Amino acid sequence: MTTFLHHDVKTIKGIGQKASEQLEKLGIYTISDLIMTFPYRHDDFTLKDLAETPHNERVTVEGRVESEPSVQFFGNKRSRLQVRLLTGRHLVKAVFFNQHYLKDRMMPGNIVTVTGRWDRGRQTINVSNFSVGPKDEDANFEPIYSLKGVMHQKTFRRFMRSALDGIGDGVEESLPAGLLEAYKLPNIKEALEMIHFPLSPAHMKHARRRFVYEELLLFQMKMQAMKKVRKEAERGMPINYDLDKVKKFIASLPFELTNAQKRVVNELCAELKSEVRMNRLLQGDVGSGKTVVAAIGLYAAITAGFQGAMMAPTEILAEQHATSLAEWLEPFNVSVAFLSGSTKGKARKQLLEMLEEGKIDLLIGTHALIQPDVIFKNLGFVITDEQHRFGVEQRRVLREKGIDPDVLFMTATPIPRTLAITAFGEMDVSILDELPAGRKEIETHWLKEDALQPVLRKMASELQKGRQAYVICPLIEESDKLDVQNAVDVYNQLTVYFQGKFKVGLMHGRLHPDEKDQIMHEFSEGAIDVLVSTTVVEVGVNVPNATFMLIYDATRFGLSQLHQLRGRVGRGAEQSYCVLLADPKTEEGKERMHSMTETNDGFVLAEKDLELRGAGDFFGKKQSGLPEFKMADLVHDYRALDTARKDAEQLLASEEFWSSEEYRVLRENLEQSGALSTDRMD
Ligand code: ADP
Ligand code: MG
Repeated sequence: MTTFLHHDVKTIKGIGQKASEQLEKLGIYTISDLIMTFPYRHDDFTLKDLAETPHNERVTVEGRVESEPSVQFFGNKRSRLQVRLLTGRHLVKAVFFNQHYLKDRMMPGNIVTVTGRWDRGRQTINVSNFSVGPKDEDANFEPIYSLKGVMHQKTFRRFMRSALDGIGDGVEESLPAGLLEAYKLPNIKEALEMIHFPLSPAHMKHARRRFVYEELLLFQMKMQAMKKVRKEAERGMPINYDLDKVKKFIASLPFELTNAQKRVVNELCAELKSEVRMNRLLQGDVGSGKTVVAAIGLYAAITAGFQGAMMAPTEILAEQHATSLAEWLEPFNVSVAFLSGSTKGKARKQLLEMLEEGKIDLLIGTHALIQPDVIFKNLGFVITDEQHRFGVEQRRVLREKGIDPDVLFMTATPIPRTLAITAFGEMDVSILDELPAGRKEIETHWLKEDALQPVLRKMASELQKGRQAYVICPLIEESDKLDVQNAVDVYNQLTVYFQGKFKVGLMHGRLHPDEKDQIMHEFSEGAIDVLVSTTVVEVGVNVPNATFMLIYDATRFGLSQLHQLRGRVGRGAEQSYCVLLADPKTEEGKERMHSMTETNDGFVLAEKDLELRGAGDFFGKKQSGLPEFKMADLVHDYRALDTARKDAEQLLASEEFWSSEEYRVLRENLEQSGALSTDRMD
């Protein structure tokens, strides 16, 4: 941007000391800050026909006063002024609250313009804006800014007018002419005028499109440049794995890999072998078989003489991974060890010694893996199995120990594409979008809570066939204690219900790790038939004989979480069932329940979840790592994001971008974002 745009707002005509102090409260210091403060909505003052205006909607009409105004007072301050207006063919009432002083301007025969909420039943407009005379043609749309009560919208608009007039042609175009033309976007000067002083909704949308695209393009360029710079700056060690051994291992598995698994394994191996340090996200739907892909990658690193590590978010899950991986890999002379917070004393000491001496090839565990005294001999590949940003801090810890391995992050449920390429834009992404053959779709039913009895009978008939069931208890966000109480209650009821027939087990977060293990073990061995649990079984647990899941109070869970829970069944060859008990109070709640019954596709549900909850809430309470956009909205602007992503890729790869004048401003903006620096971001 041109330098004078960085001048203090006080240099704008009409903005003095007081105004500039107010603007500062809004984070506006420079001319550029001011003109780049965008309205969050526009009020529409175009004339409407009342016949087509829905009840309760805001409307602007022009009309002739048809009756003497009447005024009522309540107490000493409040008043109600009422008059009859003829607008088109409608004779309606216009009501003004606490504005009795307008009475003199409401004489029969006067032409007035009023804006207000239309009460269809009472045929009344509750007026909020009023002017004498026919409607001013230029005042159709008023931008509304978020001003936090610091100043009036009118005042702010006056400053904006003055700023735009003052800069004239002085704003430098930041988008190259080619792109403006290709997408028919307004140039910067037009766009600023149209967003702050639009003459029609079309104007405003036109301007918005430009700013959204520009913001997303710059963002994508920044992410991709960071990825590129990192790849060039951070040469990792090539992991020269033994292809024959890896092939033999794959051939030894009890199943054939799906095409998606094969593709991802190839992606991983190619990157392990290269000098590029891996920073990759593996997205896969529930049950798509991420664990075995992880095992192959880890084994490859081990055949090259490196150690591997795998971290999981919970003890149960870490143990399951350890069991699966040991079963698969020990026949190939891989020494597998497990480390968690409950590994203590002599056992721990011995394990750590072996690890440091390189006698352990593969360490699997919880966060305990990255404590200061856990020292590897030569760690080459780390996999973390949890959603979202889990790995960032851990990576830093590893690096501080002088280890800088290839890292693969596995997400437990799919993340909508738009979020994946924004929140994880600086990472490479591999996707497992195929379930192993022969799986039956889980049948999902949504029932009202009073339908519990038939549900239990259906559960019993599954148990009768030798299958097992999960019962997931309501989630009480605020209180772990109530969660546990719920689970205990349900457990007691079901124990009585199934007495003498089936064994019921109880699992919740307050149990001692040993107890949890014991119960999980009994469940996977089939000694427990029904596992009543809080959401601790949400992630990862794999018991293929379980074919029935009942989720109490299902509206309390987000879609992605329900999908993750449901993924605990349908892991074997038998038909599985998931029953959602819920009496949703809101439309959104009903829609979520319907979505669950309609699809088993985690990627589809993730998109739906994003649409229903918005980007901010998608990742839940955890810090999402999502950037804040001024204009763009990831739910609605996903097409623009996709376009911007492709354009960014092309631009960065093109010669002209780095040299030609057409791209200079964009290039400078990219440089200013810090994306080209080799300082590490994570
Ligand atoms: P997730 O991706 O949800 O973590 P898992 O890795 O736990 O899934 O795999 C789910 C189940 O599918 C496991 O029992 C696993 O052994 C099995 N599995 C994985 N890949 C295949 C395959 N290609 N064919 C058949 N079964 C598979
Ligand atoms: Mg898993």
